Amino acid sequence: MPNYHAIRLVLAVGVLLFAGAVALLASGSMKARAYHYHSPPIHIWSMHEYSSATHEEFCVHTDGSLDQPTALARVKGALWVDGTREWDGLASSKVWFIPYSGSCPTLANRASIEIEYYVSAGGCGGVSCANLTDPYFGPLWHNEYKYAYVTLKTSHMTSGSALYHDVVNHETGHVLGFKDPNYGDCPLSVMHSRYYGCASDLEWPSDGDIWVGTTIANNSAPY
Ligand SMILES: [Zn+2]
Ligand SMILES: [Zn+2]
Repeated sequence: MPNYHAIRLVLAVGVLLFAGAVALLASGSMKARAYHYHSPPIHIWSMHEYSSATHEEFCVHTDGSLDQPTALARVKGALWVDGTREWDGLASSKVWFIPYSGSCPTLANRASIEIEYYVSAGGCGGVSCANLTDPYFGPLWHNEYKYAYVTLKTSHMTSGSALYHDVVNHETGHVLGFKDPNYGDCPLSVMHSRYYGCASDLEWPSDGDIWVGTTIANNSAPY
């Protein structure tokens, strides 16, 4: 099983602070229209659907600062239950989230679960973040990552549904190959929150996000 106390985090992608916590990042007012994905690709391996069994399985655990059933319900709510538009089902269901109800460390099949969400009071250094681990060179000729580990700061999960929808979908966007924008570079996207100088925090992936996620899953993005 992946031992996240010992595992070496090979890649840290992106952070999201509580909106407004940092207002003075260095800015560049790029006019941008591009969405921001990694080139070459960086994402969870399973989204190419190499076989019919490769779903995006996930579990949720916490440090006790939020009870596990509530944390699970909020992650699920952000990923699809509450939403009118969501990541789930991208690319003709190549992206297909499968939740587990038990806390991650209690699951016998933990090693086969691609995504772990961990809710903790401190987050990762005071923010929420997504880490991809265990890279391997995949059959589509780019590195992919076997596991994703998303740390959600407890206050991001307990300050209203609009915020936890945004944070969970933003961090899950990192798992699926998106990266953070440059400051002030704001095409409509769940990746482009107020923390980055954008006008709003989207709760759900935008149509553009869905399109880009689909192209990544289909390995057809213009790398
Ligand atoms: Zn981010
Ligand atoms: Zn790939």
